[in-house]
Amino acid sequence: TNRTFTMLKPDAVENGHIGAILEKISASGFRIVAMKLTQMTKADAEAFYSVHNERPFFGELVEFMTRGPIVAAILEKENAVNDFRTLIGATNPADAAEGTIRKMYATSMGENAVHGSDSDENAAIEGAFHFSGREMF
Ligand code: ATP
Repeated sequence: TNRTFTMLKPDAVENGHIGAILEKISASGFRIVAMKLTQMTKADAEAFYSVHNERPFFGELVEFMTRGPIVAAILEKENAVNDFRTLIGATNPADAAEGTIRKMYATSMGENAVHGSDSDENAAIEGAFHFSGREMF
């Protein structure tokens, strides 16, 4: 088994989709290793998304990700990173497959409901960004 890191983004929380999304994640075989409701500061979001800091949407992304609470979680499953990216679907909900979380709950390319790590290495970095060892089970 291995792990991935996810955030239910501010749009998903504002729109009341926490329960439905967590239900879908659990039903898809992921075990919740760590989880909390939290809000990122501007500095947090700039650091978390630093790989995108030259992109034209960076300011919009930081503004969006800090505008309200998120649910941060670490999830465990065999092939966690790839299976979770399949479950969430394409970045742009217009391109996301039927039945994926983004197809069902995202509103736009920017406000796309959920994050999923893109590698095992980033999953470990992103999980450690949000959780201490004592918060992981
Ligand atoms: P995530 O990292 O959130 O799982 P991803 O890997 O599908 O998403 P990335 O290309 O890493 O997508 O972009 C990170 C996030 O930046 C996207 O989830 C989205 O919220 C935002 N984003 C990406 N491209 C755009 C864009 N063209 N316009 C606005 N926001 C964007």
